[in-house]
Amino acid sequence: MSADLHVHTTASDGTDGPEEVVLRAKELGLKAIAVTDHDTVEGVEPALAAGYLNDLEIVAGVELGAEYLGKELHLLGYFINIDNNSLKNKLRLLMSERKKRILKMTQQVQNLGIPVDYEKVLAVSRSGSVGRPHLARVLVEEGVVKNIAEAFSKYIGFGCPAYVPRYKLKPVEAIKIISEAGGVPVLAHPGQNNAHERLDMLINAGLAGLEVYHPAHSQEQENYFLRLAGERGLIITGGSDYHGPGHKTGNRLGAVTVPYDSVKEINWYNRRKR
Ligand code: AMP
Ligand code: ZN
Ligand code: FE
Ligand code: FE
Repeated sequence: MSADLHVHTTASDGTDGPEEVVLRAKELGLKAIAVTDHDTVEGVEPALAAGYLNDLEIVAGVELGAEYLGKELHLLGYFINIDNNSLKNKLRLLMSERKKRILKMTQQVQNLGIPVDYEKVLAVSRSGSVGRPHLARVLVEEGVVKNIAEAFSKYIGFGCPAYVPRYKLKPVEAIKIISEAGGVPVLAHPGQNNAHERLDMLINAGLAGLEVYHPAHSQEQENYFLRLAGERGLIITGGSDYHGPGHKTGNRLGAVTVPYDSVKEINWYNRRKR
C-alpha cells in the first residue's frame, strides 16, 4: 500500500485534470495521493469527489513557492483546511500576482514583435494558477518555437528578454500559512536547490517534514536526506511531482511513492499538535 504525496493537476501547471489523476492513481493501485498544486487548492475538491467515487484517499495539499536570499524553495502543505480564510486570502493574492506577472511577460514577448495573446495564455491555464509553462505552451501552439524547452531558452527563461520574476513568499510566511490552515509543512525536493541549508530557520518556523523521495534526487541525495530527516526529527515524505505525461521531470504518476504509513504519520503529527 503506497502513496504518491506530490501531484499536480490542471489547477496549476499539470496537464491531467484532478479526476484523470485520480483514475490513473487507482489504476496504478495506489492507496492515496496528495494533490499539491502550485499556489492553489482548486484541484482538491474535484479530486476528493473522484477519490470518493473510486475509493482513493486524497490528501488536501498545496505547494507554495518561496524565496530566501535569492534562492527559490518550495513548501508542501498536507491536510490543509481548504476553506481556511487566511489561506484563501493569501492564495487569492498569489493568483493575482501570477496573472499580473504573466501579463507583463506576454507584453514583453509582444514587444519583440511576436503576436501572442494574453487571453490565450489564461485559457491554457484554465484560469488556474498561471505560470511560465502556460505561456510556453501558447508559444509552441502558435509556432513561435518548436518546443517548451526552446520557449524557455529563447524567451522566458531566467535572464531571457521576456523574463519577469514571480512574486514569492518568504519561507517563514509560507510555513505560517500552511500551519494556520491546519496543515503540516514539508520542505519539497531539497536536492533541487540545496534548501536544506536553511533547515534551522525552517524548523524554527514550524517545518515538520522533508521530501526525501523525489524524481530529481540522486541515490546519494536520498541517503543524505534520509539521515538528515532522522537527525532532525522530520517526517519523511516523497512523491513523483507528477505534471502529466509530456513533462520533462515528473512525467510518471507513482514513479516515486512512500508507504501508506507515511500518510498516517503526517495525520498523527497533525492531530497531536492541536
Ligand atoms: P513559474 O513558476 O511560472 O516561474 O514557472 C516555473 C516552472 O516552469 C517550473 O516549475 C518548471 O516546471 C517550468 N520550467 C522552468 N524552466 C524550464 C525549462 N527550461 N524547460 C521547461 N520547463 C521549465
Ligand atoms: Zn509545476
Ligand atoms: Fe516544486
Ligand atoms: Fe511540484
